[in-house]
Order: sequence, then C-alpha cells, then structure tokens
Amino acid sequence: VRRPRLSVEQYVQGVLENNRSVLAQAITLVESNSPVHMEIAQEVLGQLLPHTGKSIRIGITGVPGAGKSTFIEAFGMMLCEKGHRVAVLAVDPSSPVTKGSILGDKTRMELLSRNPNAFIRPSAAGGTLGGVNRKTRETMLICEAAGFDVILIETVGVGQSETTVRSMVDFFLLLMLTGAGDELQGIKKGVIEIADALLINKADGENKDRALIAKGEFNRVLHYLQPATPGWETKAYMCSSLTCEGIPEIWAVIENFRERMTRSGFLQSRRQAQSLNWMQSMTADYLHAHFYSHPEVAKALPDVEGRVARGELSATSAVQQLIAIYEKSFQ
Ligand code: GDP
Repeated sequence: VRRPRLSVEQYVQGVLENNRSVLAQAITLVESNSPVHMEIAQEVLGQLLPHTGKSIRIGITGVPGAGKSTFIEAFGMMLCEKGHRVAVLAVDPSSPVTKGSILGDKTRMELLSRNPNAFIRPSAAGGTLGGVNRKTRETMLICEAAGFDVILIETVGVGQSETTVRSMVDFFLLLMLTGAGDELQGIKKGVIEIADALLINKADGENKDRALIAKGEFNRVLHYLQPATPGWETKAYMCSSLTCEGIPEIWAVIENFRERMTRSGFLQSRRQAQSLNWMQSMTADYLHAHFYSHPEVAKALPDVEGRVARGELSATSAVQQLIAIYEKSFQ
C-alpha cells in the first residue's frame, strides 16, 4: 500500500477549509483498512478533534419504501435553505442477501446532492477494527470539522444497524408508513423503543386520514413505553415528503430536543457515554479477535470444544485452560 498523496497537514487544512476534494480524500483515508492509512488517519483525526462536536447528529431509519431518501431530500433542502450545512451518511445493514447495497443507489437525493451546502457520502464497506461502525463515526467527525452543522445518518430499519446508528447520534427518528393495519409491520418493537420521534410519512392525499389515525394509535403505544431519552417524551408526528407539509415541524421538534437536552446536560453526557462505550467495544473486539487468532489457542480449541460438548470438561475449566495457553505467550 502506498502512502497517501497528501500530508497530515494538507488533510487537516483542507478539511477545515471545507475543500470538497480533500474532504472526500480524508474520508477515503479513514475508510481504508490498510495499517499505514489507519495510522495517518488517526493523526489527522487527532488534529481535527478540537473542531468536532458542534453539529446535531440525527439518525434516520425506516423500512425500505418508508420514504427515507425522499424525506432526507426534502428535509435536507429545507435545512440548506435555512443556511445550515448538511452531511448525509449511510450505514448499510450487513446482510449476506443484500451485500450491503440497499442504500448505495446513486440516483437518490438528486437535488440535495447538487446543493453546495450538502454533502452525501454513501455507506462504507466493512473491514477490521470496528468496520463500518468506526468508519461512519470517524466520517461524521471529519464532516463536523469541515463545518457541517447537521449530520444525518440513514439506515434501513432491519437487522442490527439501527442500534449501531442509535449509538452514535443525539436524536433518532423513525419513519413510518400509514397503511391500514400494517402500522407495526416490519418494524420491531425494539426499534420504536430507541426512537426519539416517530414520523408518519406520506401523510398526503387519501393517506392523510389514515395517517391521523395511525398517529393516535402510535401515541397510545408510546405512552406505555420507556422514552429513549430520559426527560423527553417520544411522540408520533406526520409529514409528507412530497408536499413538505410537516417537515418544518419535525425540525422544530429536533431543535426543541437539542435546546432542552443541552440545557439539562444530557446531550453532553450521552455523547461522553457513546465515546466510552465505543472505545470499550472496540477494545473488546480487538481482544476477541486477537485471542482466537492466537496460533496456540487455535490449535487447542477444537479438542477443548469437543470435550465441553461431550460433557467431559466444564465450560469454566475450558476457559481457564485456553486463557492459560494464551497468557503463556506473554510471559
Ligand atoms: P426509502 O426506501 O425509505 O428510501 O423510500 P423512498 O424515498 O425511495 O420512497 C419510496 C416511495 O415512496 C417512492 O416512490 C417515493 O416517491 C414515495 N414517497 C416517499 N415519500 C412520500 C410522501 O411523503 N408521499 C407520497 N405520496 N409518496 C412518497
């Protein structure tokens, strides 16, 4: 692997000046799985860190067809018109079926992608040490350093990716459909529980009445759930991403959330907890991989597992034996 063309200083300067070409190259650098690139990327990030954290970080999820890209286009355009600078990132669920390409479609958000105040970055591929999770977090920090003050992180509401996105954002928005009877279809209750707002999209034309009914039903369900953010009441709202009705209102909700949670100190403590959890989870992943790829451990494992499976060895003794083999290599 060759060293990148730019120096650490050039990356840092370029990102801080919001030079689009350098911004894109800096993101490519943090997305690289090569150890050389990772080392330089961490130097760049280290220097950018003092310039990060000033955005509102919003996660957006919903089943395929809920209208995520249509909503982000309408919402993002409105924010750009208000003078905000909007970065849109995506986290694909890692599914062997889709091979993580659900969100990769380039024809989405055509207006927003041409807006000079917006920046759209498709989802990164996996890899080592934290994979997509690390790449998205670090891309978010780079975008913040480049002056984007609204970060939208989109994911499909299936699988584990909503939890991943929840763990890196301030506010989590769940887009819903109004279809009669299938309000809860495809959306797991667990996803509703991590949302700070439910937004019933496509509340236009004939759908509007059904959206109103769905809104009432959701609000009744939400009443019995623990809110995702202490001190904040998760409620259902409705909008149309086609007519833009309800879009300014959901931004007002998010601004109110930000104002209240900043004042109470919760926003800062959530971000601190997110960073620490993330550090601990990366450490755990690293140690897990290191342990199982250790040659002596790998050699002993099949026999030890066989004995545990046959009931000849207790699980606890098995772990003690494997750890002893692992630790011997450090003595
Ligand atoms: P995604 O899979 O969640 O990104 O959904 P899309 O944004 O691709 O939208 C799926 C379909 O719903 C498209 O045909 C959109 O035109 C349509 N759609 C999205 N938002 C609205 C809306 O607010 N009203 C109506 N009537 N249709 C919408």
